Amino acid sequence: MDSTKDQDRENRSSETCTKDTEKKQQESSETLSPLPSQEDLEKEIGDYLSKKYGGKVRIVSQMVFPKHLKADETDDAQSSCPGEESGLSFDLKPEELEEYLDQYVIRQDEAKAILATKVCTHFNRIRYLKESGHDELPVGNIKNNIILMGPTGVGKTFLVKLIADRLGVPFVKGDATKFSETGYVGGDVEDLVRDLVREAGGDVKRAECGIIYIDEIDKIAATRGLHGPDVSRAGVQRALLKPLEETEVELKTPHDPISQLEAIERFRKTGKRDRQTISTKNILFIVSGAFSGLEETIRNRMTRQSIGFGAEINSEEDVNWLEYVKPQDFIEYGFESEFMGRLPVVARLHELSEDDLFDILRNPNSNVIISKKHDFRAYGIDLKFEQDALRLLAHQAYQEQTGARALVSVVEKALLPFEKRLPSLDVSFLVVTREMVEDPERELEKFLENPFNPRLLRSYEALVAAEKEQLAKSIRSRELPQWVEDGVELTEKRQELIAHLCLKQDLPISRAADRVLFWIRQIKSYEVSFFNRCGIRIEFDDTALDRLLEGCKYDSGSLYTQCERLINILEYGLTMVKERSGQDVFHISSEVVENPELYINRLIRKSYTSDS
Ligand code: ADP
Repeated sequence: MDSTKDQDRENRSSETCTKDTEKKQQESSETLSPLPSQEDLEKEIGDYLSKKYGGKVRIVSQMVFPKHLKADETDDAQSSCPGEESGLSFDLKPEELEEYLDQYVIRQDEAKAILATKVCTHFNRIRYLKESGHDELPVGNIKNNIILMGPTGVGKTFLVKLIADRLGVPFVKGDATKFSETGYVGGDVEDLVRDLVREAGGDVKRAECGIIYIDEIDKIAATRGLHGPDVSRAGVQRALLKPLEETEVELKTPHDPISQLEAIERFRKTGKRDRQTISTKNILFIVSGAFSGLEETIRNRMTRQSIGFGAEINSEEDVNWLEYVKPQDFIEYGFESEFMGRLPVVARLHELSEDDLFDILRNPNSNVIISKKHDFRAYGIDLKFEQDALRLLAHQAYQEQTGARALVSVVEKALLPFEKRLPSLDVSFLVVTREMVEDPERELEKFLENPFNPRLLRSYEALVAAEKEQLAKSIRSRELPQWVEDGVELTEKRQELIAHLCLKQDLPISRAADRVLFWIRQIKSYEVSFFNRCGIRIEFDDTALDRLLEGCKYDSGSLYTQCERLINILEYGLTMVKERSGQDVFHISSEVVENPELYINRLIRKSYTSDS
């Protein structure tokens, strides 16, 4: 008994002792100077090394990658999810987003304007509410969920995808027809919410500010049949009400034993319970459909209330009835009023004409053409299209009456025989002609008879020259907000480099521009690490930056080697110059980049002559 007490006392005293020691340690560490930063440490160790080895050994600090561009982030997507963890960096303006959409989407101006505005407002509002400390407006939030109306293949999905990409928020697409077919009400939209978490790499916070896109929403309109309105479809609409507004969705489906088991296993290992639910409060829902027959509903209503309207139109044929759509028309069409109340924004997309399809194909950012170019580039073949070929492709696609969707298949059909045969030959370019689109097999035979046909070579050269010119024009007229924000000039050399990347790597202009900006930031990060290491300020001017960027045309990896070599020489030399003359700011021009040794020699000589 006693011995137990003794043991107890001992334990307690050793506990107090440990606490005391901890406290003392804490106190003493608080009275000591604060821990040095990485830069301070580098400087201290650097000083020590240079004293000991006279500058022959030095620490190479990791390149400081700017936070706002991830190491390989060369696309337009910014990590700007407005979730808490991502630092609420969302601040895109509607006009910036609209300008971005204009680069990729032909026509659909009204839809682009509405989407850009409402999506930006949605995310900026989340950011604003979080920043201002209230999560909710005192009167409750009304979400800007959106209905997109338009036939197939006119850019509905494309627009939403582009927006999600640009904002860096996760995005999933579902189909409303599945909701009614499976029959278990509400289950499917919850699956979409869970898919969003998967898209966000398991990050629930990120998923909570994602976008869910539901196509074919018109298929859940409760159209009246012989026995009254379709009850099950109305049921599906009702099941969507809560997720569209705000609800908590279980992260694990009760009917998925594997994920349940995984959760138990994780709990056993970590003792932590996974988060159980995800809120749909900030998830933006965009729904779409062709809404065929809605025109009829609108027309009936308007003819009923024809007072004053008849005077505005001469012939009913000319009228685009959808322009006059009102919530009551959707209700008449078969939607519940509560359902419509959760979709306050409507945007219409128009059918695309043959000319529009042609414009889509000749847009330098066309994903149809760019992805085909990538396919050929993978075999070392540079693919170019003559304008006549694009015209015919647009014409063929238009015949299919599936909007721009058919573009992919007509391009595939024309190029498939070439894609099969050419990789086995020593061919570095292919010019797609109108004749090839008309009869690919015949033209392949002809091509094989004379692969180095001078007419095709001339055409190829002319197309490259025209493309360069068009690119140069587009690059010059392009607004590059990040460049402006960084105060980086779009010099002629940089324009050339962007054009080169577009041509040789089939990148859209904005991606190429992002890539170049990323490299510039990398170079400029050396100014900072250089100062932190040796207390000397170096300033690369535009000519120096351009000179360093030149190598990136062929091998971006060379940038690092080149910068490291330059910095090595400068660090050794400029430290000596500083010691002799006290100068600690140096302007680095292209001549210094080309011949740093000469520059250092001159500086040292100068420091001696000014001494004497
Ligand atoms: P839907 O309207 O049926 O959702 P999509 O947006 O999926 O059609 O369009 C299919 C493809 O067609 C897109 O990936 C894109 O390549 C092209 N496309 C459609 N509309 C446009 C447009 N207005 N501008 C540029 N490309 C478009």
